[in-house]
Amino acid sequence: MSSAILILSGPSGAGKSTIIQNAKNQIGDFYFSISTTTRSPRDGEVDGVDYYFTDKEHFEEDIKNGEFLEYAKVHGNYYGTSLKPVHKALDEGKLVIFDIDVQGHRLAREGITEPITSIFITPPTLQELKKRLLNRKSDDIEIINRRLKNAKDEIQAIEEYDYLIINDDIDIATKAFISIAKASRFKYSNKRLDSFRQSWLEK
Ligand code: 5GP
Repeated sequence: MSSAILILSGPSGAGKSTIIQNAKNQIGDFYFSISTTTRSPRDGEVDGVDYYFTDKEHFEEDIKNGEFLEYAKVHGNYYGTSLKPVHKALDEGKLVIFDIDVQGHRLAREGITEPITSIFITPPTLQELKKRLLNRKSDDIEIINRRLKNAKDEIQAIEEYDYLIINDDIDIATKAFISIAKASRFKYSNKRLDSFRQSWLEK
């Protein structure tokens, strides 16, 4: 299978992690890009699994050393994608999945030459998002309000994405995700199309 890049964005609480978890045995060999962040771990989050947790000083050092493919400040904390593991996974022909915000999606589109497929995932309404964040009980009200404000800003960018998944029903949303993930492997860069054409003509 050929490598591909799949970017997921959408508010915290949209169900992105659950969808990936549910779909993981049905989308072929993939690498989920583990981001580095300066935010504190939530209950149950594990360093090196959910995120690489670090502090502001180390993060800024990594920025200076050019370690990030993209990074952004979200809800007052840094979040970034490290370059090396992404290149390695692409070389191995894997589907590389990113869960990054709207700013990260824009930067990735500018900085990556591989074809990108992107999906914005959201609950059906702002009200429903608020309900889910409150039910999750992992953040205090001030953080939830910041996330809701951020979600209102991010929904303005949905036109920039290839697909929109409205996560009203997790099974339907997961099926939609699986279809898009499978199709994303059939997008090729012009460079790869060119080399395919050459070999097609020569053989
Ligand atoms: P959370 O704190 O809920 O895990 O994530 C908050 C937001 O940060 C989400 O919108 C998520 O997509 C985004 N995010 C997570 N990792 C990265 C990253 O590496 N780069 C960027 N730009 N955004 C990220």
